[in-house]
Amino acid sequence: MAEKEFVKEITNMEEDFPRWYTDVILKAELVDYSSVKGCMVIRAYGYEIWERIQAVMDGMFKATGHRNVYFPLFIPESLLNKEKDHVEGFAPEVAWVTKGGDEELEERLCVRPTSETLFSTMYAKWVGSWRDLPMLYNQWCNVVRWEKTTRPFLRTSEFLWQEGHTVHETREESEAETIRMLNVYAEFAEKYLAIPVIKGQKTEKEKFAGAVSTFTIEAMMHDGKALQSGTSHNFGQNFSIPFEIKFQNREGKLEYCWQTSWGASTRLIGAIIMVHGDNRGLVLPPKIAPLQVIMVPVAQHKPGVLEACQGIMDRIKDQYRVKMDDRDNYSVGWKFNEWEMKGVPIRLEIGPKDIQRNQGVLVRRDTGEKSFVSLDRIEEEIGSLLEQIQDNLYQKALQNREERTQSAENIEEFTARLDQKQGFIKALWCGAQKCEEEIKERTGATARCIPFDQEKTEGKCVCCGGSAKHEVVFARAY
Ligand SMILES: [Zn+2]
Repeated sequence: MAEKEFVKEITNMEEDFPRWYTDVILKAELVDYSSVKGCMVIRAYGYEIWERIQAVMDGMFKATGHRNVYFPLFIPESLLNKEKDHVEGFAPEVAWVTKGGDEELEERLCVRPTSETLFSTMYAKWVGSWRDLPMLYNQWCNVVRWEKTTRPFLRTSEFLWQEGHTVHETREESEAETIRMLNVYAEFAEKYLAIPVIKGQKTEKEKFAGAVSTFTIEAMMHDGKALQSGTSHNFGQNFSIPFEIKFQNREGKLEYCWQTSWGASTRLIGAIIMVHGDNRGLVLPPKIAPLQVIMVPVAQHKPGVLEACQGIMDRIKDQYRVKMDDRDNYSVGWKFNEWEMKGVPIRLEIGPKDIQRNQGVLVRRDTGEKSFVSLDRIEEEIGSLLEQIQDNLYQKALQNREERTQSAENIEEFTARLDQKQGFIKALWCGAQKCEEEIKERTGATARCIPFDQEKTEGKCVCCGGSAKHEVVFARAY
């Protein structure tokens, strides 16, 4: 009946992955389109995922010594212009405020695309001596980048993120911070989102505008494309010199500070959807799912069913994120479908027969497997199942990445393999931007990163055949 129709509304992912993605985010009620082109409305269920991400990440930032602040949405044009590479990099996508009410502003204000310049002006004011360092701040906010083509969560003109900005006494300390925060992102992605990532450095061409070096975690989506999922930048003194962030060092001399910044955004929600989702909809990793268990009473009009379910709810609700769906205007089948579509890791069914047998039915979202468990041990059973699901999702994602990772010795091989199977291509590169550009032109793949873990560096560049410097992971990317 309604069951089939309901699922049919999602495009098959093997047929058309981008359409599948759009179907899932709309039908699972994560987002809706707004009246402003390129901007999204994040609906309650989508925002609850973001709140989970924020809560965990924020804890990790605080555990590594960072504190939260809030900076203004607007940046005066003169400030944005202070660091040349930075302004050039961001200029094409900056939105400007030119009027306040009826009055023309004396100086245009840009709506922040990122806040290095604002943080730098304040650091210039706040930092006096080496004793003030390091300053480790983060802010959770929105930013605006005027994008031409947009896709909810992956690329929108306004998005939510966090941006960490830190100042240090020495080059070594700023380098260590850059890597420390990259590791925080990697740990978060792997442990909480169940997404395996490759840690590495961006090439000169792909690095952040104004950075000395940019580090990234790169994830593979189910269709084999890459998604940059978090970046950490080492600025050296690129901002401290134009912004005059100076401190008195241990010898009593004035010196410029060393800086970093690092960010992760609502893109991560896009990653969760595209790594774990299937043809029935979302599949959420238990550690990040707003709801871990959905309890669906079966034949709820029969005496004792709702009471028994409520009794179980009372026992487990403090331990797990759980909800009971006792709406009486939907069939049980419809409810099953809806919660599957929304990716809730476990469904718990309890009906009159189960009550007689003192059992519940646990159904895994990731595999569809059913198990009958004694209600006496329901807490433990749920806990262990959530762990198994979390682990299984990670393993499946890792397997997909391994199956879709290939190597190539020359550009013909590169093209043929990538066309045959979308995924990561590991190849040697001479370091020349010309080769990087040619690869992009011929294959559509960009250098995702130079992985920290270099398996092989001796040999010939995949593009020009010259002597290689690095092993690079290339892929088409979102
Ligand atoms: Zn080359």
